[in-house]
Amino acid sequence: MIAKTKPFGIIQFFERFPDEDACLEHIFETRFGTHSPCPSCGELGHWSRIKRTKKWRHACGKHISPLRGTVMYRSNLSLMAWFYAFFLFANTSIGIRAGFIRRQLGIGHKSSNRLCQMIRIHMAAMARPQMLGGEGKTVQIDEVYLRYIANSEGGPNDAVIVLGLACDGQVMSAIVPDRKSGTLIPLLVARVKPGSKVVTDTLSGYQKLAQHGFQHVQINHSIAFHDFRGHTTNNIEAYWATVRRMFRAARQVSRENLWTFLAEIEFKYNRRDTKDSIFEELISNFPPHDPESYRTLQGRFDWS
Ligand SMILES: [Zn+2]
Repeated sequence: MIAKTKPFGIIQFFERFPDEDACLEHIFETRFGTHSPCPSCGELGHWSRIKRTKKWRHACGKHISPLRGTVMYRSNLSLMAWFYAFFLFANTSIGIRAGFIRRQLGIGHKSSNRLCQMIRIHMAAMARPQMLGGEGKTVQIDEVYLRYIANSEGGPNDAVIVLGLACDGQVMSAIVPDRKSGTLIPLLVARVKPGSKVVTDTLSGYQKLAQHGFQHVQINHSIAFHDFRGHTTNNIEAYWATVRRMFRAARQVSRENLWTFLAEIEFKYNRRDTKDSIFEELISNFPPHDPESYRTLQGRFDWS
């Protein structure tokens, strides 16, 4: 868990990032600075900014561009626009529509769509639980249908199935191809720690969980939303309520981009008690961004 930080509003934002240079210096410090070795010679520190460029030179002669390999590399937008968009994304509880970003930043339709998509991909790259549960823990499991619209290339509107797991206030969710046992069981065995108690509804796809060593409690939702020992799936249901609300707010989500919306919702939901540090997290971690990492990130939220 990230410690609570001081509130960071619009005034603090512009004090800290008054111009392009402040943003660029911040990215350089975050990615290289005095803590990361030079990628060429391996020495720490001894960097100097090359005047009138966005590059730094190391004592050994190596030049680096701090934006290379980040979501912001080769963007037509200013770093101020990126940072302010990170700020807006970090400070909304129901999700951001591209039209809002377009008006706030005074940019075009295409640019704002792309910016929002890249910010969601950036969120998909942030820290996420690898597995949930463990000895003495209860993991709630459930699935939900999410509707999407046909993309610009056409095709029908349809829905995907999203599988969700909740434990200790943290959730993990991803698109799954179907609700069959042969699909769900291996996905769950890979993500629920041995020794966990699992609570599900009576869907047949979950029936074999006990065979994999989990204590399995099934709740028959046609009778009640808890069993007589107080087991519920309330936590994952609460997450679905957030997912549905944010999907409604987003309005038009295509199948292609759906996983990025899911990534945004999960990212923010798992940080709902430490909201004040979301912006800092987004501008302090720049995992490698390229076509290869895009596929890896998609795989985190799309298990189909
Ligand atoms: Zn060097």
